[in-house]
Amino acid sequence: MAHILIVEDEERIASFVAKGLRAEGHRTTIAGNGHAGLDHALAGDVDLVVLDVGLPGIDGFELLDQLRSQGSRVPVIVLTARDSVTDTVTALEGGADDYMPKPFRFAELSARVRLRLRQATTAPGGAGPLDVLHAGGIELDLRTRRATVAGREVELSAREFALAEVLLRNAGQVLSREQLLDHVWGLDFDPGSNVVDVYVGYLRRKLGADAIATVRGMGYRLER
Ligand code: CA
Repeated sequence: MAHILIVEDEERIASFVAKGLRAEGHRTTIAGNGHAGLDHALAGDVDLVVLDVGLPGIDGFELLDQLRSQGSRVPVIVLTARDSVTDTVTALEGGADDYMPKPFRFAELSARVRLRLRQATTAPGGAGPLDVLHAGGIELDLRTRRATVAGREVELSAREFALAEVLLRNAGQVLSREQLLDHVWGLDFDPGSNVVDVYVGYLRRKLGADAIATVRGMGYRLER
């Protein structure tokens, strides 16, 4: 059972989502505007946020931005307009873990919620050496979301950090583009998309040109 915050101003959708999640044994809180949503999300006892984009007060993107900039790593699934590629990209770049195009069937949302909760619980929790990943002179602190290269701090976006994290966890191993898409971008990315290559490029600029090797025809490998 998890505590799930639903930030959605359309009562019909909010109650549809809440009802379904409660039927699956979760506890739900509904916030009908962006400010209330941010307050609840920052309160600390929320395990996952279902976040609409169009909200009174501050919108979903602004909420997400404030949430991440205040250090919260709570998983966020953004409800986007089905045809808006811009919304989807903005949400993911802004640090959302996943997105759900509207309108959706509850089963589709439920599958994403389960996946995100599972990933959150298998991530290392609490203080300890598992909270800091090291490889090849790169260090990622998973609690503070800080990255350093040879002791020098570098700024990573939420998406870059997630990509660096999966590469560091599997340092020395080749990861295919599909594996990286699955881990970092979640469902529904066109396997033909070059988003992985683009982000590996961003990371090389920040972590060092030699940090990530391209293994032709197979994928990428972070050097130990
Ligand atoms: Ca709305």
